[in-house]
Amino acid sequence: MACKICGSVHTSIIYDGIIRNGGLGHYTKENVLIWQCSDCGIIWHENLFEDMDSYYVSEEYRQSLEGSTEEARFYELHDKETLDKLRYTGTDIFRGKTVADIGCGAGAFLDFIVGVAKKVVAVEPSQFYRNIMKRKGFTVYAYADLALKEYQGGGSIDVITSFDVIEHVDDPRSFIKNIYELLAKGGRAIVGTPTDAPVMRSLLGKVYEKELLFSTQHIWIFSEKNLRLLAEEQGFKSISFKYFQRYGIGNMLGWIRDKEPGTAVESEFITAALDGVWRGQLSDKGMSDYIVMYLEK
Ligand SMILES: [Zn+2]
Repeated sequence: MACKICGSVHTSIIYDGIIRNGGLGHYTKENVLIWQCSDCGIIWHENLFEDMDSYYVSEEYRQSLEGSTEEARFYELHDKETLDKLRYTGTDIFRGKTVADIGCGAGAFLDFIVGVAKKVVAVEPSQFYRNIMKRKGFTVYAYADLALKEYQGGGSIDVITSFDVIEHVDDPRSFIKNIYELLAKGGRAIVGTPTDAPVMRSLLGKVYEKELLFSTQHIWIFSEKNLRLLAEEQGFKSISFKYFQRYGIGNMLGWIRDKEPGTAVESEFITAALDGVWRGQLSDKGMSDYIVMYLEK
């Protein structure tokens, strides 16, 4: 099969087995083939859902992911991620700007941004979350291309953020294209996505891949090389990357001990200093579990 990102024919199946389907401990009934391109490094599986759009609009999607669509539960799960997201973005790029967040859910992140931004645009496919965002007074679209139409061909948004979204979309090329077109000249986009967590894969191999890494909802696992290709195609003026480690060293040790996810090791020797070294080294070496792409039009 030809690579869908770079077109190379140097692709191969790197995994053939059941994978995570929704939350931890839920698996596909059938084996899933995971492909990787040896030229650009992209890892993917073929779309397992007949109609991706209607799937993402459905409650079924959020429920399979989080076990709930309750608004309060959403904040409980996602409010704590906001500090990380602000680490990725910094706090100084939003004031007085028109900001869009693509895949905003019920707006855990935008609720903080709205205080300093001139205008905030919420893009979210789930009707349930869109209704919440409307109730909170945001300008809301289901998809970025709908926002594009409304903005008369785009070009009027200063800052676009999108976290944990691009790995879900059917067509990441269109996703990056929409971002480019929505942005004003000089506008900036910050796109974050999980990596293949190379350290965990090297330590745990197939156990980690089956239990966590490969999942029905994550169609793609990106790396710097293939993200750069997608951004270069659109002609962004500046493209750069930073690596962040989301999971602490206790989580890694828990995996090693239990050979399954769930229980991080807590011990006196796991100090903030040790955890800081773990996160810092993985980020510095580009071996972390999260990558953030910074784009300027
Ligand atoms: Zn490729």
